[in-house]
Amino acid sequence: MGLRENIEAVRAGLDAAAIAAGRDPSSITLLAATKTQTSDTIREAIAAGITVCGENRVQELTAHLAGSAYEGADIHFIGHLQTNKVKYVVGKVSLIHSVSSEKLLRAIGAQADKLGIVQDILLEINLAGEESKSGFAPEQALDAARTAANLQGVRLRGLMCIPPASGEKEENFQHFETLHQLAVDIRQKMEDNKLNMDVLSMGMSGDYQEAVAAGSTCIRVGSALFGPRPPMSTRKD
Ligand SMILES: *Cc1c(COP(=O)(O)O)cnc(C)c1O
Repeated sequence: MGLRENIEAVRAGLDAAAIAAGRDPSSITLLAATKTQTSDTIREAIAAGITVCGENRVQELTAHLAGSAYEGADIHFIGHLQTNKVKYVVGKVSLIHSVSSEKLLRAIGAQADKLGIVQDILLEINLAGEESKSGFAPEQALDAARTAANLQGVRLRGLMCIPPASGEKEENFQHFETLHQLAVDIRQKMEDNKLNMDVLSMGMSGDYQEAVAAGSTCIRVGSALFGPRPPMSTRKD
């Protein structure tokens, strides 16, 4: 199948899951996870109806920006971000999903202040306490949200998670429900900021329907749109 058909198939799956859950399909964003894709493929995806692209790597983001590959779409950053690279991302993307530490949060705030802008962000939550993954522990999330609320340069928009790769769909559904509940709890405890907390970024190619059932407002889909990716370790950059 081609890209256009794949986009239609994922959109149909998303719509069906939303309707089954009694939700409005138009309230859920389909973000195309474009890591390893060429600028031409990104243009093709946007021409075929993709409205949001999510990048993982600063290098790829910078290269695609230089080539005006994203014209017509919003850009989000969804990958691990090092503190010393925030200047390549802040102000260049409309939402950073992967804010995984207080240090990074403050660095983003400082860079946004420098530019005189407000950067929308999500807190990445490491639900299963995986050593190999970054992100706040669920019990640190409220403190991190309070830190974010006190920084002028950032606007906290919600939470993001990547469940364990080995998970069954049902297991992932439980993780998604946990993230949803955590967002509800934080919203309740943060009166001042609650209107902004409307994004739940969860669900990928293998589990986006479960994520929609659990309240996702942004699914991040790569391989179901673009086909399988070569493993990162064998790629040439
Ligand atoms: C690659 C990636 C995705 C998409 O994964 P697929 O399984 O290919 O859909 C989503 N979120 C993040 C953070 C990713 O790195």
